[in-house]
Amino acid sequence: MVARVSDDGEPKERRSIRNHMDRPVHEEKSKATLSKLAECARLAGATDAAPIDPAEILIEDDLADLCRQPRCRNYGLSRSCPPHVEGPGTFRQWLKAYRQALVIKIDVPSEILLSGARDEVMRLLHEIAAGVEAAAVEMGFPASKAFAGGSCKMLFCGEHPDCRVIDRGGRCRHPKQARPSMSGFGVNVSKLMQAAGWDLKRATQGTGKHDDSMAAVTALVLIGLHGGRKNERDAPGGNRAQPYI
Ligand code: SF4
Repeated sequence: MVARVSDDGEPKERRSIRNHMDRPVHEEKSKATLSKLAECARLAGATDAAPIDPAEILIEDDLADLCRQPRCRNYGLSRSCPPHVEGPGTFRQWLKAYRQALVIKIDVPSEILLSGARDEVMRLLHEIAAGVEAAAVEMGFPASKAFAGGSCKMLFCGEHPDCRVIDRGGRCRHPKQARPSMSGFGVNVSKLMQAAGWDLKRATQGTGKHDDSMAAVTALVLIGLHGGRKNERDAPGGNRAQPYI
């Protein structure tokens, strides 16, 4: 009988047994990694962070379409928002390459989110997500990618007339803080919260009422070895040191 061999010459049966034996070790390592990253997020100011299975991330084209119609005031203004992001179809492709993800939240009084202090909270959210992404890369997951909420143009480059990446083909001014908005990829945030086991609370704008309840803002970090693209530099945050470049 001819032994079936892998590309590197190892008999396939032996590799299969070895992989099976290695699995508990990998699972333990993954758990430890996720737990450390969740702790990083909390230390940086997140209320909580929870691991989820990337298969639980729901991507909806209709949600991404809302950036264009009704038109968001940040539409087209930065590399992190449509039409300059790759959108739902590409995100679904990326997801196939990931086995681990972390959802991060900051609980905030609704009143704050409906006030001028909102931007400060959203900046913190981006910074936490980018920090967790950097920690994941340090821990040996080079294809990790972070996403947050809100446009980086408004949050980080409000005083500039342009986004340096899209308008001048230059480098992002805030590569260690700014991350793409989940909205442009159609990420269903309610489902993320559910997957993380958290209550969904939203600040309701335009009601004229500010109740004293809490709301949450959310970020997502995909943690992985391979990003599902041939050229990782093309992915949002794909070049970890210099996202968007
Ligand atoms: S330069 Fe960077 S932070 Fe500023 S708007 Fe462009 S992508 Fe966002």
